[in-house]
Amino acid sequence: MEFENKVFLVTGGSRGLGKAIVKKLAQNGATVVFTYRSNKDAAQQVISELSSENKDSTGTVVAIQSDVSESESAVKAIDKVVDLFGKIDGLVNNAGITQDSPFYKMSDDSWNSVINTNLNGVFYLTKAYLGRAIRNGGGKIVNMSSVSGIKGLKGQANYCASKGGLIALTKSLAVEYARFNVQVNAVAPGYIATEMVESLADKVKQKISKTIPQQRLGKPQEIANVTSFLLSQQCNYMTGQTITIDGGLTA
Ligand code: NDP
Repeated sequence: MEFENKVFLVTGGSRGLGKAIVKKLAQNGATVVFTYRSNKDAAQQVISELSSENKDSTGTVVAIQSDVSESESAVKAIDKVVDLFGKIDGLVNNAGITQDSPFYKMSDDSWNSVINTNLNGVFYLTKAYLGRAIRNGGGKIVNMSSVSGIKGLKGQANYCASKGGLIALTKSLAVEYARFNVQVNAVAPGYIATEMVESLADKVKQKISKTIPQQRLGKPQEIANVTSFLLSQQCNYMTGQTITIDGGLTA
């Protein structure tokens, strides 16, 4: 029970990578609060799945509706965790969206909503969390970036800018908050089999798989394993790093 007595907040935990992370942490004894934007049924499903899997050893899991792209809502989410459980040991900034289009056709709305969710959302949550972390004697933050933040991808100017921004933000916060015992790292997944990728046309998915040296999409659990390690006490001397998990895509 690596995470017994630990409390984590995971944004966007109702499906995909966030769901796998919530499960991994809870299965290791953590108390986990996760946010979702709109899909309450999916959030409830995560809790039901966990409680039917292993009641005795699984930590408490709570879902709250919160839009990361709204500053007030993000602050309330942090306050809610502290009200419920007295502290937060770690924050996983996972929630994210794509709105792809060729750059010359990209609307202001499309640009702004991706930046607001993927980058500003992390700013709001992290700002609200850091004060709590310092009072708690330290903390850990994992930001969900992407290989799109490392290499350019056609049709993803807004998404690439948001995920590249996250890598830079991760380094900056790591340096600024090291003296408060806060470690800040990022994960950069390649193509992982979640709704975000499954919604692509079969032809596109086949083409993608061919470009990956391991010739397959990643599994959400493979991202959850590394995220869990970054939140653990085994990882206290690593900060400001971005761990790429992509089957060799960027190698
Ligand atoms: P999904 O689309 O499957 O899930 C997204 C989650 O984020 C959902 O729980 C959703 O809640 C939540 N969410 C979206 N917008 C908001 C918001 N404004 N406020 C709060 N919650 C929100 O995404 P993935 O699991 O695939 O991706 C998770 C993260 O990993 C993202 O940051 C993504 O950019 C990144 N990533 C994913 C890759 C992949 O291949 N899948 C590759 C690289 C990075 P709801 O259902 O209620 O809307």
